[in-house]
Amino acid sequence: MRVNNHVVDDLIDWSNTPNDPMFKLSIPQPEMLAPNDLDSILTAMKRPGASKVEMRAISESIRERMNPHPADQKEENVPQLDGVPVQGLQHKYRETVLFFPSEGQYCHAFCTYCFRWAQFSSVGSDQAFKSSDRNLIRQYIQRHPTVTDVLFTGGDPMVMSASTLRHYTEVLFGPDSPPHLDTIRIGTKSLAWWPYRFVADADAKETLQLFSEIVKSGKHLTIQAHFSHLREVEHPVAQEAIRLIRMTGAQVRSQAPLIRHVNEDPVMWESMWKLQTRLGVIPYYMFVERDTGAREYFSVPLARALEVFNTAYSRLPGTSRTVRGPSMSVSPGKVLVLGKAFIDNQEVFVLKFLQSRNPRWSERVFFAKFDPHVSWFDDLKPAFGETAFFFEPQYLQQKKRVDEGSSGQLSDDDWGPGTHFA
Ligand SMILES: *Cc1c(COP(=O)(O)O)cnc(C)c1O
Repeated sequence: MRVNNHVVDDLIDWSNTPNDPMFKLSIPQPEMLAPNDLDSILTAMKRPGASKVEMRAISESIRERMNPHPADQKEENVPQLDGVPVQGLQHKYRETVLFFPSEGQYCHAFCTYCFRWAQFSSVGSDQAFKSSDRNLIRQYIQRHPTVTDVLFTGGDPMVMSASTLRHYTEVLFGPDSPPHLDTIRIGTKSLAWWPYRFVADADAKETLQLFSEIVKSGKHLTIQAHFSHLREVEHPVAQEAIRLIRMTGAQVRSQAPLIRHVNEDPVMWESMWKLQTRLGVIPYYMFVERDTGAREYFSVPLARALEVFNTAYSRLPGTSRTVRGPSMSVSPGKVLVLGKAFIDNQEVFVLKFLQSRNPRWSERVFFAKFDPHVSWFDDLKPAFGETAFFFEPQYLQQKKRVDEGSSGQLSDDDWGPGTHFA
């Protein structure tokens, strides 16, 4: 865990613990562990003379069983340049490359549900995605004309100083920038966990100055803000930070997963999206809690997620209906649960890719048997007597190539017609 005084003094409502959503979001709860795992930890703690080494071994064995690298991202998304894996990059969707700068691989505070928790713990630290090579990212984008967006992620890139941020971004917006790169995105929880980053920190002004320069260069800069709860957005310093960022010409978009005990409340989402819209923040994604970490504790069934999303969405003006969800990030792509339908006497989930390894998979809807208890894609079954979802044969072929040692990312040929610029 990791918290700071903004979280402890201003966000958590201590009169409402342990049920307070901000408390559950930032302070790990005993119930996050399966009863027998909790038991083995507590027993070891109570044993006189239990060594640190012993305690660590127990916690590591529990962590290993919590699916530290969901959606096969370790194997399937790491791209290659001239046959050599490029560390610190992920390239899954044709248009967008993720970059994990070395200095940005922690956060101002940690979310209890974090899906990148392995990046911060011993199960992942030796294998964490990260790079400090700005020329590699520039060169990779230069060589891939389909890439229009680069997303700085982590951890949280906004833990980096303004000068480090400049070091990485200047090759992407300065005179050496790949001309086909349109958008620089920064994924961050800082507006919620440490809005002072933009308002009061020693390099706050320098950071905003950098944002202005990026915008002036003609690239689009967007802050992908992680807001889990209305209370984070209501904070006056967060609102001032949003205002200052927007003054630079950068945009702010918002995304978060739907999490039991934290934000399973349609009224909260409705109010949060409305307030964001008023502040000029564009609602972007509502995600489904991923199949990693303490998911038994945090996950919400898909049927319920749909209900929360639809209830909130139906009360929004069009200006807020930019939000999409509930969306599951699985290995083949981002699967949107579009709705529930009754077809041929069968109750089904209607699904659609928002993003997919093969962009053509996003062209059609597909169907899974309705099941009120399912909370993740892997447990869905194709409807109407089909034995596999339509994309699975192609996906398995690609997976096989990865297992045989080639890049998990599709080649420009695989990406189909209309993708060739050269
Ligand atoms: C979500 C995501 C992106 C960005 O998708 P957009 O729809 O362009 O916002 C890129 N890469 C990965 C691996 C993602 O999960």
